[in-house]
Amino acid sequence: MPNNIILGSGIAGISAGYHLKQKGIDSVIYEKDNDWGGLCGNFTIDGFRFDRFVHFTFTKDEYIAGIFEKSSPLYAHPSVSYNYYQGCWLKHPAINNLAALPTETKVKIITDFVNRPHTEVADIQNYDEWLRVQNGNYFTDNFAAVYTRKYWGQSPKDMETKWIGNRIYSPALEEVLRGSYSEQAANFYYTNYMKYPKKGGFRSILDDCRQGLDIRFNKKVVRISPSSKQIFFADGSCETYSRLISSLPLPEIVKMIDGCPTEVLTAAEHLNWTCGYQVSLGFNRPDVAKYLWFYIYDADIPPARVYSPNLKSPDNAPEGCSSLQAEIFYANDAEISPAELVLKQTVDKLKSVCGFSDSDILVQDIRFERYANVTFTHGIYHHREIILKYLTSQGIESIGRFGKWDYLWTFQAFKTGMEI
Ligand SMILES: Cc1cc2nc3c(=O)[nH]c(=O)nc-3n(C[C@H](O)[C@H](O)[C@H](O)COP(=O)(O)OP(=O)(O)OC[C@H]3O[C@@H](n4cnc5c(N)ncnc54)[C@H](O)[C@@H]3O)c2cc1C
Repeated sequence: MPNNIILGSGIAGISAGYHLKQKGIDSVIYEKDNDWGGLCGNFTIDGFRFDRFVHFTFTKDEYIAGIFEKSSPLYAHPSVSYNYYQGCWLKHPAINNLAALPTETKVKIITDFVNRPHTEVADIQNYDEWLRVQNGNYFTDNFAAVYTRKYWGQSPKDMETKWIGNRIYSPALEEVLRGSYSEQAANFYYTNYMKYPKKGGFRSILDDCRQGLDIRFNKKVVRISPSSKQIFFADGSCETYSRLISSLPLPEIVKMIDGCPTEVLTAAEHLNWTCGYQVSLGFNRPDVAKYLWFYIYDADIPPARVYSPNLKSPDNAPEGCSSLQAEIFYANDAEISPAELVLKQTVDKLKSVCGFSDSDILVQDIRFERYANVTFTHGIYHHREIILKYLTSQGIESIGRFGKWDYLWTFQAFKTGMEI
């Protein structure tokens, strides 16, 4: 009897299991955690539900949107977010909405924007150059480069630029000038709406397709033998597979494979990613959260981004309450500050940013994710290719954000599961 095994019950693994099932093919999903969803999952504390980082869906793919929508009715929130910089609130994108800044800062930003280098895109060597060509030096040095270090854990010089695509808006002088007088009504975000399930947290978009799937929890894979087609788990058990589909992170899986060549292990050592803390806060007041999400540029405030679970859906917080979750990122090889310290620093700083006090807090929690974003440091494509070619040669089909090692949003991770 064929034994189709899928590793990981995140959105990619669930999509793989669902699409095999649609073809009448059974599979078993093995998951190291005690619940499904991976990064799409959530946790609840005293009636406050928090996703594992921000999470909205904005896919234009009708087939995938149909599956998500069939699982759960969705709110469509206008994609309006804000930026916090030294006590000022600027609508996103900041460069298009400078109005709230002091005059001197605006003058420096606009002067440097006008005098920005005009390098041909093909000649741009790294993300730092790209930022300067887009924004000018002052905005890059004081906003974008600081944010890059907070979000990507890297200096912009150490990153390449192919990942950018339409993710970051490139402003025109007219827009920058207009936004320096008053906040612009126009939305410059890459999508007009951010959709979110009315009930059950983000992972509810998968409720329909996960039905009937055989997911086995607390099954951490620790070793894979492609020659005997066996996988071994941390609990000492072992399974034989006929087909193996994995959404495990590339740097992890290569270390599990018997006889993995040095060249492949070395390539994996060159991959970079971010890991990070989620600081989750529940309040006894309905009005702490004012923005669906916002970015923080100040280097002395730990979070790069903060979002509001209760504004995503009131179902995420008890009645009369509000909530925030702050995201704090590190490079995978950086020294990670202790959780208690990060929690304290974050709460202390957010008190003045968001206007709350200790007596407003009902719930505070901090947890760590080992894998958040793939980082596009130089050489990524070369090293990734070595690893993926090797996995293919061993008959392992790699899917998902960390299995493809790419900047995939949920619908794109879902698609990789669909394509197997
Ligand atoms: C900060 C942040 C914000 C994001 N916001 C959005 C957003 O707003 N919209 C959007 O579309 N996307 C967003 N994403 C991206 C989205 O989270 C991912 O694309 C998607 O969840 C990846 O799914 P996956 O199944 O590929 O990986 P994962 O969700 O990581 O699933 C992998 C699974 O494998 C399991 N696993 C790992 N190792 C083992 C092992 N040894 N044995 C067994 N199981 C194992 C893990 O526990 C996990 O369940 C965001 C990501 C981050 C980090």
